[in-house]
Amino acid sequence: MEEKENCPKCYEIGEKVKNITVKHMVSENLMGKVVDEETYYLCMNEDCDVVYYNLNNERIFYKEEVKVPIWLKKNANPKYICYCNQVTEQQIINAVLDDGAKNIKDIIRLTGAMKNGKCEINNPLGKCCSPFIQETINKALNSKE
Ligand SMILES: [Zn+2]
Repeated sequence: MEEKENCPKCYEIGEKVKNITVKHMVSENLMGKVVDEETYYLCMNEDCDVVYYNLNNERIFYKEEVKVPIWLKKNANPKYICYCNQVTEQQIINAVLDDGAKNIKDIIRLTGAMKNGKCEINNPLGKCCSPFIQETINKALNSKE
């Protein structure tokens, strides 16, 4: 069978995520619909309403079927970067602009990000948020110049 890694709606290639991550991200009543051992993807297109879908597009989970706002989607509110400690993009930007944070260590100290991380079940990508914290720091530092 041909594998479809593309989002069924926008046709962009999604990012592979763990089954356990999808199970924890979808609304309680939909958990049973996430089939064990199945491969899921997260649609990374900010304009697309699809969050997760499985390889053969039999199962699709939309924004409103997921428990948390997906930071990379347009109008995510609040826009969490660290889901484990619910630290938002704005908090990180403020820490850089107002409190002089320059690196991830400063952000951890000032915002409490990345503590007791259970990224596999809290982060929509199932990954540690540190690269995205770094990205946000860089963005804030650049805006400062
Ligand atoms: Zn999509």
